[in-house]
Amino acid sequence: MTSAHPFKGNLDLGRLRDLIAQVGVEHIPFVRLETGTNLIGGQPHSLANLRELRAVCDEHGLLLVMDASLLSDNLWFIAEREEAEQGRTIAQIARDIADLCDIVYFSARKITCARGGGILIRDEEVYKRMRGLVPLYEGFLTYGGMSVREMEAMTVGLDELLDIDNICQGPQFIAHMVAELADRGVPVITPPGGLGCHVNAREFLPHLDPRQYPAGALAAAIYLTSGVRGMERGTLSEQRDEKGVEPIAEMELVRLAMPRRVFTLSQVNYAVDRISWLYSKRHLIGGLRWIEEPEVLRFFYGRLEPIGDWQDALVAEFRADFGDSL
Ligand SMILES: *Cc1c(COP(=O)(O)O)cnc(C)c1O
Repeated sequence: MTSAHPFKGNLDLGRLRDLIAQVGVEHIPFVRLETGTNLIGGQPHSLANLRELRAVCDEHGLLLVMDASLLSDNLWFIAEREEAEQGRTIAQIARDIADLCDIVYFSARKITCARGGGILIRDEEVYKRMRGLVPLYEGFLTYGGMSVREMEAMTVGLDELLDIDNICQGPQFIAHMVAELADRGVPVITPPGGLGCHVNAREFLPHLDPRQYPAGALAAAIYLTSGVRGMERGTLSEQRDEKGVEPIAEMELVRLAMPRRVFTLSQVNYAVDRISWLYSKRHLIGGLRWIEEPEVLRFFYGRLEPIGDWQDALVAEFRADFGDSL
């Protein structure tokens, strides 16, 4: 949770080799690396790790797929933190990353600030295998698909991705927020990653049972006392198994996402101020339970309510300190 490791998003190659030995390469359709890993706090991988991963994939004839949605932050971290890459441009690093992968796909919203997304394929045979799936999920290739306007917007976004003065902003704001919160004793994931500042809800609310969704409750409490909207990344985001049993997530995080060019520094400082205040009142925060729990994507579509009336006590405390000021 807290460490100084510069590349916590590295894929564990020892465990990959073990898995290949255990299940057999014929049962592994592809290896996927998520750059700027979303669910572990936007932590980056190194270029060296990707090179070694390519070598393992080549050894076993495995397809290497990259989810590049969060590439912008990861590029910045490689340029900042990886010794062997010092003095190289973002464009050179990006080129190497692309050359090492067989398939690169991305959410255009994240990587290019445009709508839609893309799947980039090197090998025509792989393209032909995937083409058959398109009508099932999307519509025939000849339907037209993405508008030219979107493709143009993506091109601009990809171009901006190579500008270090552009991609540095998110990670620098996140580093600032993580340092300020850590200074005030608020439990946050370190080192600062990309994507956002991640508050460790399990440590923030040790009195809550994991089945009362600490990260969900904390996200609600932050919203009530600041208007800042965070995203639960914990047990609530898990799916029940076939028997209806809910797996307990390894981490309970609230993600305070910081897309580049969206927030000012004073907005970040405001959030720090309110979250530190909330930390001093954390004993007031209670849990949540479902009032509507859909089977699919419950964390997007479901509805929950507070257990008890902790939200009233919290808001009363807030009023006592801040009056009607949000
Ligand atoms: C957000 C995200 C996605 C999904 O993006 P959409 O724009 O919602 O399709 C996929 N992969 C990663 C790593 C992401 O962070």
